[in-house]
Amino acid sequence: MQWMGGEPLLRPDVLREGAKLFTRNTVTTNGTLDPIELPNCTYVFSIDGPPELNDAIRGKGTFKRVMDTISKIPEKFASTVMCQCVVTKRNEDSLEELVQILRPTRAEGMTFSFYVPQREDRSDLTWSSLIRRDRAVQTVMRLKEKYPDFIWSNRRSLELMLSENAKTVTDNCPSKRLILPLYLQGSEFVNPYCCYGNDVDCDLCGAWVVFWLAAKLEDGSLWSYPTSR
Ligand code: SF4
Repeated sequence: MQWMGGEPLLRPDVLREGAKLFTRNTVTTNGTLDPIELPNCTYVFSIDGPPELNDAIRGKGTFKRVMDTISKIPEKFASTVMCQCVVTKRNEDSLEELVQILRPTRAEGMTFSFYVPQREDRSDLTWSSLIRRDRAVQTVMRLKEKYPDFIWSNRRSLELMLSENAKTVTDNCPSKRLILPLYLQGSEFVNPYCCYGNDVDCDLCGAWVVFWLAAKLEDGSLWSYPTSR
């Protein structure tokens, strides 16, 4: 189960009860609240660049708050602590700087996901074509070579994200086939088109989960994870 928000830590009561139902739990957090102990859990702290860039994307003062939260996590905290950066056209030239900031922290590793635009997205976050995105993917591939233990993005999943391969993956999206997105609206669950919403541009999707699943399906290792108690 992947718990996402909003901010899942705003509802520790739901997390505590819900996490008991699943073999593995991942909580994606904006890092402004202290994490709580949950069974078999990985915490993913969202951080999108060095201070100025991160705060331009995620809000003033966010970088410091995330770093403060990570630094306060006790050594014996049982959950895995990692970070995830959403790579965009705006932060693509600052990725190594971010890696160097995060390596000495309590974070055990990090992954890179790539921006998933909406269909009419004209912001400065999107590359607007897969070919234009390639330079950023190649940067992450180079960082993976340089910091193999800290960067947990899977090498093959990055190859699949290159323009020559990406559409083959997204045209038959493994996330759409294998992941059930549930969105809690009041007390009702609604079922969006995919984990990234309803009006998404699949042709430019760079969600790590899509390409991670594709790589796992390709090498046959996906189902080696425990899937039931
Ligand atoms: S936008 Fe959603 S459905 Fe489309 S490729 Fe990405 S994860 Fe799959």
